[in-house]
Amino acid sequence: MHIVVTGGAGFIGSHFVRQVLRGTHPEFRAAHVTVLDRFTYAAGPGNLREAEGSSRLTVVKGDICDQPLVERLLTGADLVVHFAAESHVDRSIAAADDFVRTNVMGTHRLLEAALRARVARFVHVSTDEVYGSIEEPGRWDEQSPVAPNSPYSASKAASDLLALAYHRTHGLPVCVTRCSNTYGSHQHPEKVVPRFVTRILSGQRVPLYGDGSHVRDWLHVDDHCRGVALVAAGGRPGQVYNIGGGTELTNRDLTGRILGLLGADWSRVDHVPDRKGHDVRYALTYDKISAELGYRPTVPFEEGLARTVAWYTRHPGWWTALRGDEAPPRREVPV
Ligand code: NAD
Repeated sequence: MHIVVTGGAGFIGSHFVRQVLRGTHPEFRAAHVTVLDRFTYAAGPGNLREAEGSSRLTVVKGDICDQPLVERLLTGADLVVHFAAESHVDRSIAAADDFVRTNVMGTHRLLEAALRARVARFVHVSTDEVYGSIEEPGRWDEQSPVAPNSPYSASKAASDLLALAYHRTHGLPVCVTRCSNTYGSHQHPEKVVPRFVTRILSGQRVPLYGDGSHVRDWLHVDDHCRGVALVAAGGRPGQVYNIGGGTELTNRDLTGRILGLLGADWSRVDHVPDRKGHDVRYALTYDKISAELGYRPTVPFEEGLARTVAWYTRHPGWWTALRGDEAPPRREVPV
């Protein structure tokens, strides 16, 4: 079996690749993996180092918008797992060109190539943000309409619709996954969990948007990857599958837990003006993937967050390289 993983040098994609090569997902135990990644600022240094020695891995530095390249790479592929994207909401608010280019045009190029290569399965990895904000106690399911509010989520919603259209129009065996806020090791320090952890480790203050009452559902990256693997192996073509973590927290609550794990207090927090157009609450049901494919989140949030904080504490060289600063002194955490 041959799997092409786009964005395999980024946060979630690199976890997925490592898991496939380690045999975490029995369906793909013998698979060869080709990573296609442009290695933008978001690709972590050495994210694939552990996997690079494997004879089952080929890494190609390239752009998903490069049609001849994607056609060549997808020829002979059985499965495409499409993680590559511009993924940071704040950057999309500042300038959205790259988001439209990669997330919409890039996805289109891959779908075209997949159609020509007759790949047996195409998993398009998307986000709960495409549904927009929902008031308590509501939860979006897969039938809910998309109503994205940021340029990032609008570009992801556009790519979801294109992917589903390629199933409906051309019969391409596409599945779309929509996942909640994912956390874990190897995530770029621009995202809230690693941002707060690494700033506190560096002796800096952390910026909390608005009054901190925004609510997100948190999903450990291992559970996210397991959900994607289940959909890749057994999802029904043309279907959307939500993947949730089952832990809803306000950003204020999340901040308090991070401070607690690092022995810091609220004097380290700056309340900053809210993000433009900030969605108040994301929440989804994952009943469909549970009923059809046996998915359930397995990493308790307290344990996953403690492991994540410990990882950043032990790997300052990883994130200082991305932030472009000096590594702080190594410190031990009791995890
Ligand atoms: P990331 O930003 O860490 O990684 C994205 C990767 O894509 C990087 O390695 C980057 O180099 C690569 N890339 C960007 N543009 C490219 C291009 N034009 N051609 C080839 N490669 C390119 O992102 P992530 O957090 O790992 O997210 C992966 C996917 O999961 C994205 O599609 C994102 O929308 C989705 N998602 C993320 C979350 C989350 O909380 N992080 C939640 C739900 C869904």
